[in-house]
Amino acid sequence: MADSKPHSKFNTQNLFFFGCFIYFFVTNSIFSDESKLTAKQARILKDTFVYLESLEPKKIKIDRSTYNRHSQFESFFKFPFSGKKLSRWIQSRIKKFNYGSTGDYVAMYQDGEVLLGRGFFSLNRLDRILVLLHEARHADGKNYRHVECPDDFPFLNTRDWKIHPAGKKGCDSVPDGGYGITASFLFELGAYGYLNQTEAAYRYNSEISRVIRD
Ligand SMILES: [Zn+2]
Repeated sequence: MADSKPHSKFNTQNLFFFGCFIYFFVTNSIFSDESKLTAKQARILKDTFVYLESLEPKKIKIDRSTYNRHSQFESFFKFPFSGKKLSRWIQSRIKKFNYGSTGDYVAMYQDGEVLLGRGFFSLNRLDRILVLLHEARHADGKNYRHVECPDDFPFLNTRDWKIHPAGKKGCDSVPDGGYGITASFLFELGAYGYLNQTEAAYRYNSEISRVIRD
């Protein structure tokens, strides 16, 4: 989201009015076409949660030592893998969904609300869950803000190759940010056989590529 620019030239009073103007301008320019979800969009969103709530732990399909080595879901979320709990986790963080233009993004979080772009509704249900999970993490504050990806960031954006994450605020420096938690969720889907290992690993690696350690 737009950052405010430095206002060093202004005195405090001007800063206040200028700040209000900027706020007004930014609010109106970015969210000018924001609207409630249509009935069809609301149904797609509801279907997303219904699908998420159907994902519950069954018998683990991979060997236990691999599971123990890579499973991070419980340490991140503080509860064992459960789609129903995860649905509540998301809905306790996102109070309202709107529809509007989101530029290069599929969705944007601000103050308890998520703005969903047109692209969200054409994603498959699993990708829609990943988007919601990611955005819900932004509700947990500044610790989970993105950092700039390195200038030599080598990985492709999985959804749109025209979007280059290098040098953009599209990475995380913490293991349990928006990308780390989606990776941990995908790992469980692979472990419980909801995704085959190839797809789970491809998707897991793609999310985890955005978690950078320096
Ligand atoms: Zn984000």
